Amino acid sequence: MIIAKSAKDLDKMRAVGELIAEVREALRVMVEPGISTMDLNNAAEKMIRDAGALPTFIGYHGFPYAICASVNDEIVHGFSKTTPLIEGDIASLDMAATYQGFVGDTAMTVPVGKISEELEQLIRVTEECLEYGIQAARVNNRIGDIGWAVQEHAEKFGYGIVRDYTGHGIGRQMHESPQIPNYGRPGTKERIRAGYCFAIEPMLNLGTAATKTLGDKWTVVTLDGKPSAHAEHTLAVTPDGPEILTLTKEQKRLRQANGADNAASAT
Ligand code: MG
Repeated sequence: MIIAKSAKDLDKMRAVGELIAEVREALRVMVEPGISTMDLNNAAEKMIRDAGALPTFIGYHGFPYAICASVNDEIVHGFSKTTPLIEGDIASLDMAATYQGFVGDTAMTVPVGKISEELEQLIRVTEECLEYGIQAARVNNRIGDIGWAVQEHAEKFGYGIVRDYTGHGIGRQMHESPQIPNYGRPGTKERIRAGYCFAIEPMLNLGTAATKTLGDKWTVVTLDGKPSAHAEHTLAVTPDGPEILTLTKEQKRLRQANGADNAASAT
């Protein structure tokens, strides 16, 4: 069952969304050659706890860290490491917080110093796919419309769309119904209603879509060893359209100024 959130619930979803967005943006500016994902993890955990929230990932089915740090060919669920990041790497940082009983979940892929044009494009298109997916999350659309919006854009570039992991409903639990694949057919699957909250998270591979899980039982990597990018927002479906919850105050202001939340397209 998909749980529609009340107005009161949505206020709490907004609060936790903004909280975790501030953490994400603080991490973004910390990423540079020489820093380790463990440094980033520790900073994130401190920021989340200092804000009076809990790092949702710690202990989730036994996951040991506050963030998932997935570098280069790692797709999702990577463990933080003390090894320094090096120029040319890309790092997917996925994080969630629980605050006042509700969860916010967000991810970004960040370049470490100067990266290749090929990787710049991979990250950019992943973010564009996220935006297209978000714009499809509208009342009376269906879950398949979100997947199709992501898929259609990603396929223009020939990227492998990861099928083994999906976006999800979110609320009091990090993973609620429904699953939100990054592929689909328009007009299929569950109908979208006001009050639904989703985490949409395209994962695009430079090579093929195939994945495997490492011996740590968590880290998911591309089977062909090529790099992968990941981006994620938590959103609420409102009668006026999708409302992205995992934006900082400043990002909300900028989006509003650009009218982006009302735009039909995502460029
Ligand atoms: Mg998620």
